[in-house]
Amino acid sequence: MRYNSYIELSQKSLAKNINYLKQIIGPNVTFVSVIKGNAYGHGITEFVPLAEKCGIDFFAVFDVFEAQQAYSVKREGTHVMIMGMIHGEDLPWVLSNNCSFFVSDLNTLQNVVSIAQELKKRAFIHIELETGLHRTGFEEDELPSLVEIINRNSDNISVEGLCTHLAGAESISNYVRIHSQMGIYERVKEWMKKQGILPTYFHVACSAAALMYPESRMNMVRIGIAQYGYWPSKETKIHKLLSDTSQYKRNHLHSMLAWKSTVSGVKYVSPGEFIGYGNMFQTTKQTKIATIPVGYYHGYRRSLSNVGHVLIRGKKAPIIGLVNMSIMITDVTAIPEVTRGDEVVLIGKQGTQKISVSSFSEQLNLVNYELLSRLPMQIPRYVTH
Ligand SMILES: *Cc1c(COP(=O)(O)O)cnc(C)c1O
Repeated sequence: MRYNSYIELSQKSLAKNINYLKQIIGPNVTFVSVIKGNAYGHGITEFVPLAEKCGIDFFAVFDVFEAQQAYSVKREGTHVMIMGMIHGEDLPWVLSNNCSFFVSDLNTLQNVVSIAQELKKRAFIHIELETGLHRTGFEEDELPSLVEIINRNSDNISVEGLCTHLAGAESISNYVRIHSQMGIYERVKEWMKKQGILPTYFHVACSAAALMYPESRMNMVRIGIAQYGYWPSKETKIHKLLSDTSQYKRNHLHSMLAWKSTVSGVKYVSPGEFIGYGNMFQTTKQTKIATIPVGYYHGYRRSLSNVGHVLIRGKKAPIIGLVNMSIMITDVTAIPEVTRGDEVVLIGKQGTQKISVSSFSEQLNLVNYELLSRLPMQIPRYVTH
């Protein structure tokens, strides 16, 4: 069966992104590839082997479902770490598979200890500290109990990491808050060492922090958005381009994803007619329209009605009228050669033209993160080189 739309993943762009990021973070820092949100819409099962080919052997997911997807395709020695909530009934799977995970409260830790004892397994935990994001993590007054439980159960608990998450490293307006978080982290880290807790990994950095705050890299970074080829924000992009000392400042991140479809039909409409449902768009001239079998069900935003563009035959074709559930209509009067079966680019390049995820997100006032991760799972992902 042939799908009405599909996503292409570029192995070459991913390799370029990872090389660039590795060169920035240096050789002694473990690169954790963050693949929550279905690998930011790229598809966990397709993305993991691609990243492994680029030398990645450590992935971070949000939940057990995502961890199991990664396990279903990963290489033997590849590590997976769960950063979000784990239900008690899933802990046996997590422990039996030596999957590492964040722990951010004492109840969970007690539960982990008893299941680990029962299964005669060792749990590889990353202690998540509350440093100012005010989301998840151990408060300072819980630390003595935490240390006591860990030290009492050293046969069943290994502290693999000590971590926290920063509150918006992509924007300079959060500078003071980020600095305060790093200060708290360093203080707790020293205190933990004195209590005999010696984690292997120290990590706080997401993409933006790894790019903007060298001291945040420590010996592990958790890179999400940047590896897929997107800057966490305009600020980080400008900061990096300005600090590039070479004569030709280059954008080193290449979006690795394209979303494509096919023209399903063309026809001509006389002047003065309304296109599609309702009266959102009325022709003012003889108009050639092309239908595309993609709609909001497939993740194409309805708010792009009368606003968005697609690429056909290397040219931009505006979307006219409403984006429907499974179909949308474009004006191809200016591209008279268009016929049924032509390739349509919804996101990506065609000829010299490009529709970027960020152009989308600017029109819709969305962040790249949301747009990417909402690409539906059922669209097939194909690898290109
Ligand atoms: C999503 C996430 C990251 C990665 O963030 P990016 O900005 O995409 O690099 C890192 N750490 C945690 C805890 C996350 O949830």
